[in-house]
Amino acid sequence: MNSKKLSFLPKTKVGIGFVCALVALTGLMLVFIAVRWPRPSSYCKVHGVGLKSDWVPVIYGEPGYVPGYHQASKDFPNGDTKVEGGCVSTPDSPKTQLISFCKACRKAKAKWLKARAAVYLREI
Ligand SMILES: [Zn+2]
Repeated sequence: MNSKKLSFLPKTKVGIGFVCALVALTGLMLVFIAVRWPRPSSYCKVHGVGLKSDWVPVIYGEPGYVPGYHQASKDFPNGDTKVEGGCVSTPDSPKTQLISFCKACRKAKAKWLKARAAVYLREI
């Protein structure tokens, strides 16, 4: 064996064991990261149907929320029809964005907003 070419390898059994343990530990860490890495879901966890793709408008500025929306939106987590782009926009800011949505979530969201609007109109 040419010792000059493999000079980076440790010369002792303890050193080789350390390198093997390091490689194994790195592999385990990579597997752990791959399993735990957040990935976009391809189906709606509420309705159990596959998500579809849609280009929706990006809205800039201070968003207004209907009271109770945050709690209610747990029933339609994939019902977005727009994306919030933040407070600041420039001429180069994107006007649309591709998102995943669930038809049942959009239907549930529209139904909730319509019902909430009826309540709101009765209150004023
Ligand atoms: Zn859904």
